[in-house]
Amino acid sequence: MTATGSRMQRTKGYDPEPMDVPPLFQSPPRPLSMVRWLLTKYMWPQSAAWIALAVLVHHVFTPSLERFASLGFDDVGLLWLRNTVMMVLIIGGQHWWLHIRRSQGTEFKYESRWLARNRTSFLFDNQTRDNVFYTLVSGGGIAALYEAIMFRLYANESIPQLSSLWAIGAMTFAVFWIEAVHFYLNHRLLHVDPLYRWAHALHHRNVNTGPWSGIAMHPLEHVLYFSLPFVFLLVPGSPFIATFCLVYLMISPSPSHSGFDRFKVGEGASLHGGDYFHNLHHRYFEVNYGMLLLPLDKWFGSFHDGSIEAHEQMKARRRAAD
Ligand SMILES: [Zn+2]
Ligand SMILES: [Zn+2]
Repeated sequence: MTATGSRMQRTKGYDPEPMDVPPLFQSPPRPLSMVRWLLTKYMWPQSAAWIALAVLVHHVFTPSLERFASLGFDDVGLLWLRNTVMMVLIIGGQHWWLHIRRSQGTEFKYESRWLARNRTSFLFDNQTRDNVFYTLVSGGGIAALYEAIMFRLYANESIPQLSSLWAIGAMTFAVFWIEAVHFYLNHRLLHVDPLYRWAHALHHRNVNTGPWSGIAMHPLEHVLYFSLPFVFLLVPGSPFIATFCLVYLMISPSPSHSGFDRFKVGEGASLHGGDYFHNLHHRYFEVNYGMLLLPLDKWFGSFHDGSIEAHEQMKARRRAAD
């Protein structure tokens, strides 16, 4: 990717190079580079890991479909328990590695300060405890309820279902694009008052984010955010795709909100970590509502690529709106 402007310099913290939209959406579009970008930058390693995790969770740690034909509270409870264990291990693991053990110090960290303690705006006056509470209780619970509803509909053959492995595989990749639209739409809606005040402001208390901030949301936001699998009430999907949608929505925000642009994996080696695009949304609110995969923000004028030029444009938009 080519940088589009000069890099912003934070006084305290790490600023990556400015971002560009994926090659397909540059002018002129570069379809071949897009394929390379998808395989090497987008899928590897995170998106591939979410698919592998969903396969494991669905085939090893999820009860069989017959159980859900007559849905009970115990079925939702089981999925909730499964979600809790998964999130404690994966999100908690990142939090422990990066924020408790501080394994890479503040290297690649967007903000040099650490997460907030003794801050009354957070539940229990502690950012991490607050974030864990909303993630496990409301997030894990609503995701479990939605997955159980989808399983019930599949068990009773009430909704269209894909049967071939190829079609399920192709649809799994399509989910990333479908979510890019779904997330942009529900996120834009959440920035409109009173929804912002009632619900989304709770997520935005986290300006300096950590892995547990990813889905630390108001239950009303969880109701919207996790609604992705309901696309498959109309579009043919499968029980695995329902699990994949929810695993992806529960887990992928943890590295993206981790606070670190890259994760060090050895001396001089690092992997793609945080999502600078979304980090700028937490810093400046009215930019980057969507995902970089499908640059709806670029097309609708709210793109901030991390350059000084984009920053000046954002400030001019704000002045014009006042
Ligand atoms: Zn966020
Ligand atoms: Zn927002």
